[in-house]
Amino acid sequence: MLQRKVILAIADGVGDRPHPLLNHETPLEFAKTPHLDKLALMGISGMMDLIGSGIPVGTDMGHMILFGYQPHHYPGRGPIEALGIGMEVQEGDVVLRCNFATVDDNGIVVDRRAGRIRQGTDEIADAINGLELQGVKVYVKPATEHRAVLILRGAGLSENISDSDPKAPNDGCPYQEVQPLDDSEESKRTASILNNLLSKFHAILSDHPVNAKRVEQGKLPANFLLTRGAGKLARLEPVTDELNIKGSCIAGESTVLGVARLAGFKAITDSSMTGNIDTNIELKAKLAIEEIAHSDMVLVHFKAPDLKGHDNEPLEKAKAIEQFDKMVGLIAQGLPDNTYLALAADHSTPCEVGEHTGDPVPVLIYGPSVRRDRNWRYNEIDCAYGGLGHLTGNEFVRTLYGLMGRVKKLGN
Ligand SMILES: [Zn+2]
Repeated sequence: MLQRKVILAIADGVGDRPHPLLNHETPLEFAKTPHLDKLALMGISGMMDLIGSGIPVGTDMGHMILFGYQPHHYPGRGPIEALGIGMEVQEGDVVLRCNFATVDDNGIVVDRRAGRIRQGTDEIADAINGLELQGVKVYVKPATEHRAVLILRGAGLSENISDSDPKAPNDGCPYQEVQPLDDSEESKRTASILNNLLSKFHAILSDHPVNAKRVEQGKLPANFLLTRGAGKLARLEPVTDELNIKGSCIAGESTVLGVARLAGFKAITDSSMTGNIDTNIELKAKLAIEEIAHSDMVLVHFKAPDLKGHDNEPLEKAKAIEQFDKMVGLIAQGLPDNTYLALAADHSTPCEVGEHTGDPVPVLIYGPSVRRDRNWRYNEIDCAYGGLGHLTGNEFVRTLYGLMGRVKKLGN
């Protein structure tokens, strides 16, 4: 079987809707994207629903699909974040996403992000890392800024528990007592232990020197851990094993790196990959070309379009897309002959909504002996006329695997 390779460039949340500030074009239509359009001219395009028509997905779920998993494989955000920041997750662990937060003596959440704390979170996490309660051991590691991951390790724990985080915009409300979400003893016990731990964390962190100093400086202390997204890591076969391929992923965002590790891909990042419009596109493109020399599949992630969609900034989103276009142009320049260059997104984030929606996203495949269609622009309107038609995320990924020569024949 002829085997080839794929570089998949993902523009996070790039899908959008026509906007009055952009002459009623979408940001992708409005932006100047000579490289994306050249690939459209030479390649085949289409529209993709990550799971199904109208279903919005998170960045974690969207990437699970783009890395080749099915929606029911989703392990919850906690385990993905833990893998993303390089924590070891064992079978049976309950993993939660957390915010370092500020609460007052009555448990009222003063600030869900502890004044967007950036420094001192290592020391604060150290103060509660390794605690044990009723046979459960605690592991805490800070992520970016006010974020952190908490792992509860011990026998008989359940991930079926509620969040203590009252979520935005509920500053000024009390934090929520963690509740079991089913009648099992495991869920009741896990909720009870976590509630006790949260009080213990509060007592320890209230007296912590980093927080004493913050209060002195007029800053909010990080004296609480708000938890959400409890999950257990399912036993998933890495996609790389299933396909017998080597994969690499280049990204600045821990969520994407977490899914990459789950899928068996080598996770590559750098402090200059900011997750914003100023990310180091030259380095990303260079690494993509270097990695494909010894990998079969490389995913390159670009975050900025999603941020601008959430912020309802269509002009900025178009600028972010122009950066993505440059990155893709650099990759196309160095693309080996045996490699496809594909474009996709993990979901739409229309500016007028400011949130993820289920609007389909444009996809494209360019490369050796691909069946060209008559579309010559990469955007939500023109790709609807493309030769790939309208596919689900799983179908799109399988199309790539098929071109790579990695899909087994059915029948004889
Ligand atoms: Zn996303």
